[in-house]
Amino acid sequence: MAKDTSAYDVLFTPIKIGSKTLKNRFYQVPHCIGAGTNYPGFQMAHRGVKAEGGWGAINTEQCSIHPECDDTLRITARIWDEGDVRNLRPMVDYIHKNDALAGCELFYAGVHAPGLETRTIARGPSQYNADFATVPGCPGFTYNHEADEDEIKRLQQHYADAASRARDAGFDIVDLYGAHAYGPMQWLNPYYNKRTDKYGGSFENRARFWIETLEKIREAVGDDLAVVTRCSVDTLYGGAGVEIGEDGLKFIEMASPYVDLWNVNIGDIAEWGEDAGPSRFYQSGHQNDWVRFVKQATDKPVVSVGRYVDAEKMLEVINTGVVDIIGAARPSIADPFLPNKIKEGRIEDIRTCIGCNVCISRWEMGGVPFICTQNATAGEEYRRGWHPEKFEPAKSDKDVLVVGAGPAGSECARVLLERGYTVHIVDDREKVGGYVNDVATLPGLGEWGYHRDYREIQLDKLLKKNKGSQLALGQKRMTADDILNYGATRVILATGATWSTVGFNHMTQEPIPGADASLPHVLTPEQVFEGKKKVGKRVMIINYDPYYWAPSIAEKFARAGHEVTIASVCGVGAYMDFTLEGPNVQRMLRDLGIKVLGETGCSRVEEGRVELFDIYGEGHKREYKGTGQLPRRENNTNQWHECDTVILITARRSNDGLFREIKARKDEWEKNGIEDVFVIGDAEAPRIIADATFDGHRLAREIEDESPQHQKPFKREQKIWGVPYNPGENPDLEWRL
Ligand code: ADP
Ligand code: SF4
Repeated sequence: MAKDTSAYDVLFTPIKIGSKTLKNRFYQVPHCIGAGTNYPGFQMAHRGVKAEGGWGAINTEQCSIHPECDDTLRITARIWDEGDVRNLRPMVDYIHKNDALAGCELFYAGVHAPGLETRTIARGPSQYNADFATVPGCPGFTYNHEADEDEIKRLQQHYADAASRARDAGFDIVDLYGAHAYGPMQWLNPYYNKRTDKYGGSFENRARFWIETLEKIREAVGDDLAVVTRCSVDTLYGGAGVEIGEDGLKFIEMASPYVDLWNVNIGDIAEWGEDAGPSRFYQSGHQNDWVRFVKQATDKPVVSVGRYVDAEKMLEVINTGVVDIIGAARPSIADPFLPNKIKEGRIEDIRTCIGCNVCISRWEMGGVPFICTQNATAGEEYRRGWHPEKFEPAKSDKDVLVVGAGPAGSECARVLLERGYTVHIVDDREKVGGYVNDVATLPGLGEWGYHRDYREIQLDKLLKKNKGSQLALGQKRMTADDILNYGATRVILATGATWSTVGFNHMTQEPIPGADASLPHVLTPEQVFEGKKKVGKRVMIINYDPYYWAPSIAEKFARAGHEVTIASVCGVGAYMDFTLEGPNVQRMLRDLGIKVLGETGCSRVEEGRVELFDIYGEGHKREYKGTGQLPRRENNTNQWHECDTVILITARRSNDGLFREIKARKDEWEKNGIEDVFVIGDAEAPRIIADATFDGHRLAREIEDESPQHQKPFKREQKIWGVPYNPGENPDLEWRL
């Protein structure tokens, strides 16, 4: 019997936006994926799959209106000319085929795009340099030019022309992008706008550029398209900038006659993690305290974001009048079929976004396609032909043993089961999820447990359907003999990785003398989670890792009352600048009094003390000393620091011993009925959860391939010299489901 989902009817009630009708309340707001207009297949397939999954409207990422807005090295879309129009059309067509609306976000970054390819200089209300790191790690690098009135008209015309081109491409919506301190926000915001003419000073003057631009866009496209504007209603500068109670609501009221829909959020670009809040710091709906006022100032519909993943919360924000439409970027990436799953009452099948912002990290670092920790198919829809909900049936009845149910093993088993294989999964832990079970206990990372939960639930469902398959948890560790005698045709080792117990690290590719986690005063992160060793008052973290481990473990012990120092060769949590967790992680370290010794390596560990050195100190210059050896790591900057407990976060090492032993006993395979043995995830090479998950997924999709251990080539969207490139007309490049 079909489930009664009438409780969710509100979410599936159509709503008018200008001349267009949004068929439901699910709106994929603009978000970057790394496709731009140079990867039209990627752009089309990723957005198209969401249309298939029930999203009512799907937008491009920020789509530059003119070469004066050149975001290179980050990949964003462009609508500069007919070529871009052609490259965006397949996305629009795919969305239309699935009965959804397609939107184009009109993007002019001003100073926040570095112009590295076109070498143009952006225009703005005044001259300033970017508070955003236009080049990763380098805020203040890019400057603009103050526009005069002729240039204001020219810029507004660029917007109008781009809107006309968006109509040519078939879009239903154009969104004048004024959030994240882009485009017209720089004119409204007195933080940037220091003019004294009719475009600066009073609120009315600062709003003039935005209003006039909306008028120009409307003149260009009339009612053929819905005109939306994306606006940060509070820039969160605390007393400066745009505040909701002041210019924010005043602007909504003033500009309402010119728009068909308000797309609102909070924050700026320099710290846009306040908008795309990582789960470490922000729960779902964290923008509601600001957004809830918007509807008081307008009679136009309102869409906003806040990592809405839960259907009940979605209903609540609509029913209490916070918004009319649920906007989403990350939830739509983690599960492109979120709307359909709600509609069908398949709540337990939703792949909930964990709020890790690894997707965003790829745009932030620049130039690479995005990935998702939860959804291994994100970004792979076109080039590998992976559909998030469809799987090719098994091509044989060969059964598979998967050892290890961490991110790689559990995802691999899930996809193999979806394909109809008989799968046995064995793990010595009591729970599916591998080390995610530990990570999710770290401060602020509880929501990362959704990664495990999704796979746990799906495995349970699939195992019930798939007779002969089984999940065996809490088992004794399997040995090579156990595996050889198991009786499986294919064996997949997903046995993970472990932090080095001797301080092996990338600076020396050697252990640290004296570092030995078999001693009572030295711990690895795994031993921290085991909780068997006593941790003293003064904790010294020796850190060679750029991601969340050192700050998270430091936070854990600082909150428990320990005095924590991190000696770190790299920026503590450096990668978290890309996941937008960086600024608040740095604040957390300061708030908790965690001492950070930067650019500091460790040359020796002894009981009660560690010897540290300045990595740029004397003796470390990369000069050839005629010895044929790497530069020495000991010098006169070495200093002893006292501590009670040392935690080694230096390098991870694959648990590949089992794989290597079984490979070495290849001559025993045949008599045991084994045809193939593979190693995946961290056991092959340590990596982030997203990539281990991807690897498990990939092997399950490609297991019948000629050499499944090694990746199958994917379709490249490459400009080829002398060959006219048009995926719409070239069947080899065409996206098919
Ligand atoms: P990945 O991210 O690659 O999936 P994890 O470390 O999260 O790696 O997962 C590996 C899982 O395999 C862990 O749950 C671990 O307990 C389990 N495991 C490792 N070796 C064995 C073994 N020999 N027998 C059974 N389970 C194992
Ligand atoms: Fe969510 Fe993380 Fe996937 Fe981004 S990468 S959509 S934050 S689960």
